Amino acid sequence: MRDRDGLRRFLFERYPIRGQLVRVDSAWRALIEHHDYPAPVRGALGEAVAATLLLADTVKFDGVLSLQLQGDGPMPLLLTQCTSGLGVRGLARCGDVGEAHRLDALVGDGNLTVTLESEDRSRRYQGVVPIDGARLADSLQRYFENSEQLPTRLWLFADARGASGMLLQKLPGSPSADRGEAGGEAGDLEDTWRRAQLLGDTLTHEEMRSLADREILRRLFHEDDLRLFDAAPVYFRCRCSRERVGNMLHALGEEETRGVLAERGEVEVRCDFCNRAYRFDAVDVAEIFRGTSVGGASVH
Ligand SMILES: [Zn+2]
Repeated sequence: MRDRDGLRRFLFERYPIRGQLVRVDSAWRALIEHHDYPAPVRGALGEAVAATLLLADTVKFDGVLSLQLQGDGPMPLLLTQCTSGLGVRGLARCGDVGEAHRLDALVGDGNLTVTLESEDRSRRYQGVVPIDGARLADSLQRYFENSEQLPTRLWLFADARGASGMLLQKLPGSPSADRGEAGGEAGDLEDTWRRAQLLGDTLTHEEMRSLADREILRRLFHEDDLRLFDAAPVYFRCRCSRERVGNMLHALGEEETRGVLAERGEVEVRCDFCNRAYRFDAVDVAEIFRGTSVGGASVH
């Protein structure tokens, strides 16, 4: 099946339930291209990429949604970020993961943090839950329950070729009775929500890999009227820039930066997310610390 980098929303016509399907194919391979992750780490990162896109699409905001796993295990850090325009990036740090493949074994004793930050950094929301269970979806389930979010379920899949997932969410409101059918009962909504989740549990990685969105939704929810929206593109987008790296060197300090310059003739910084190299020579370094130096001597 050809690559599909896209996110598609759908709605249950008669119930306040919405969902999304996401597939990340070429964008996912671009994201892991310069990294040699062990399979379980790659799997966790792919699931996090799919989850981050799904979560970013459910919230109305203009900024960046981050999902971070941190702990004392063989994979002490996993970080994914998605902009409101569905540009995603991510990385994991790991040592020898040995036989560990469950998420709680990889991260160890640690937390899952979801952060939502507006573009101008004026607004920030953060939710933290302990890592719990074999898969990322288990910890995210706990996050939804703890943070008083709308009732939400996620199914996530990833391998070397692609990452994908589905999200279902129960919205406030009651079943629509305007279609002239019986079924405007709240009990009906609860039954439908429960049934939709059970059907979601039957979704397989193979189906996500091989079937089109319409086929998947028909297979799962053929009893329900669904409205499908056009798919929105998702892509790999790193937010690094020469200016940001310059700011980072500034924060590191003049003495340290000039030390590297003296030793190597230039300062090279590689972005951990996209592997892009930024090089700074003596003139560039002087420019970064212009204003912090007085008469050629650094101020400490
Ligand atoms: Zn980058």
